[in-house]
Amino acid sequence: MTNNIRIGIPSKGRLSELATSLLNDAGIKFKRRDRSLFALVNQFPVEIIFLRTDDIPVLCAEGAIDLGITGSDLVEESGVDVDVRMQLGVGHCRLSLCVPEDAKIESGAQLDGLRIATSFPNVTRSFLKKHNATAHLVELSGSVEVMISLGVADAIVDLVETGSTLAANRLRVLTDLGNYETVLIQNKNCANAEVADRIQRRLEGVIIAREYSLLEYNVKRDRLAEAEEITPGFKSPTINALEDQQWCSVRVMVRRKEVINAMEKLELIGASAILETEIANCRL
Ligand code: AMP
Repeated sequence: MTNNIRIGIPSKGRLSELATSLLNDAGIKFKRRDRSLFALVNQFPVEIIFLRTDDIPVLCAEGAIDLGITGSDLVEESGVDVDVRMQLGVGHCRLSLCVPEDAKIESGAQLDGLRIATSFPNVTRSFLKKHNATAHLVELSGSVEVMISLGVADAIVDLVETGSTLAANRLRVLTDLGNYETVLIQNKNCANAEVADRIQRRLEGVIIAREYSLLEYNVKRDRLAEAEEITPGFKSPTINALEDQQWCSVRVMVRRKEVINAMEKLELIGASAILETEIANCRL
């Protein structure tokens, strides 16, 4: 055993790529050789362990790994006691109770006595309990969305992202059981809290950098208040004087998805030389 912090990440799939790119951008670089279960990180006391995404919560709770990247849906379903250190701003989805488009079911209580197919039996059971309903659960590890047409279930509880899988199977959402996203979890007794804190700070820097752009522009001082309303910034904009005292220059962080709108609004109040720069990393 070493004093390295062990981070468990998914061994395959979209979440594996996502976790790898986040850690790499945070300077936690590693190479997975063939199908190896371990990788060492250069110049940082960290080992990466490649695991099944749904095993990560329980292996973190049991101390096999100190930190883990997985879905908060899987943390809730596993029912284990781990610290959720941060949300990683990706993998947003909801867990929904879905019925056929033409079913005459309008509430959770009407599920009493019906069959529900799901990979989330624990979350589903506690939902049913809240609604005083009992249902027969068909517990599966995947392909839940086809179980109604296979005649195995009357309703399903499944993850929904865009809703296109539901539409393709002629299903509709009756209600949501929860909203989830990708998270960083930590064992409650992590021995190396200092390194865990450093990892969290590094990841925060990358996540904020991915979410924001740096916007720079010039604006007349008498329109500055309006400009600040359009781009209030992460904390507050940096304002610098220009040679022409009637004008000033502004540097401010703006959410990437809001940049185009902000540019248009700034132009309308007479701002000029509006430049967007991508942020590679940051500490705020
Ligand atoms: P969509 O068609 O975009 O609504 O996606 C639904 C399908 O993708 C379902 O089969 C889900 O099980 C799966 N899915 C959606 N979001 C996630 C997620 N965050 N984690 C794992 N599986 C997901």
